[in-house]
Amino acid sequence: MGSYDTFDDRFGSLVIGSAVVERLWTGGRWTEGPVCVPAAKAVVWSDIPEDRLLRYDETSGAISVFERPCGYHNGHTLDAFGRIVACEHSNRCVSRLSFDGRWETIVDRFDGKRLNSPNDVVVKADGSIWFSDPSYGIDSDYEGHAAKSEIGTCNVYRHDPRTGETTAVVTGLDRPNGLAFSPDERILYVSDTSLVDTPAIHAFTVAADGRTVGDDRIFAVSEVGFFDGFRLDLMGNLWTSSGDGVRVYAADGTLLGLIIIPEAVSNLCFGGPKRNRLYITATSSLYAVYVNAAPANGRLQSVEARPI
Ligand code: MG
Repeated sequence: MGSYDTFDDRFGSLVIGSAVVERLWTGGRWTEGPVCVPAAKAVVWSDIPEDRLLRYDETSGAISVFERPCGYHNGHTLDAFGRIVACEHSNRCVSRLSFDGRWETIVDRFDGKRLNSPNDVVVKADGSIWFSDPSYGIDSDYEGHAAKSEIGTCNVYRHDPRTGETTAVVTGLDRPNGLAFSPDERILYVSDTSLVDTPAIHAFTVAADGRTVGDDRIFAVSEVGFFDGFRLDLMGNLWTSSGDGVRVYAADGTLLGLIIIPEAVSNLCFGGPKRNRLYITATSSLYAVYVNAAPANGRLQSVEARPI
């Protein structure tokens, strides 16, 4: 199943021509937010309208329900300790799966007002949590609970778990969605799934203080469907969801190639023991394909290395 379209010779070194795209599971309504949990040897992802999390066992290949109901989760990532950090539509918060199995709310308000519906999240090397907050989880009852926005705009926020401070770092986009840092964390990439502005991935220069962003430039414009979630590899290439598969862009913005997926892709993550297996959530299904790349943020820090 699946194949590749090459637009630049560099793409050949990033994929394995003989590696086929596998459909590991289907039966969802809108899948999103895959995260590989190395300690569990598992991939967890969301089926948002069904209000459930699913789990793929990387050892046995078994699929099971990880949690249901779950609060209409959307995006996930790991923190430096390997804990899952989640975007919850129904609780309108970013939460974390603690070591005792409880979901702890990390942030659910900005300036005293409830967040809209956090969509995607990344944890920076300094431990700060950056997340997007469009309105998809409150626009209707399908992916959450219909409600009016208290904030009135859709922003990207930075939350500092040490101080509890939350600041709006990107305020000029219509529907900020997927986000990720370049390997050196000097660029913050944010996709805008706007219906009124040009749907694109923006590249923001991260300020010297590491806490704010400056210049905004268009990195790539959506050609088919939307860019939703994406990840960076160690070389700085950006692997993004799109309407026709996974599109890979070089750091200079050149479209290198396409991994063709038969459903609209929402998000992806690197996983497997060598971190060289790409897991892809696409509409109703979970797909996987081995690639010749490794994630930019694939190394977890030991608990001992960080002050608690
Ligand atoms: Mg998203």
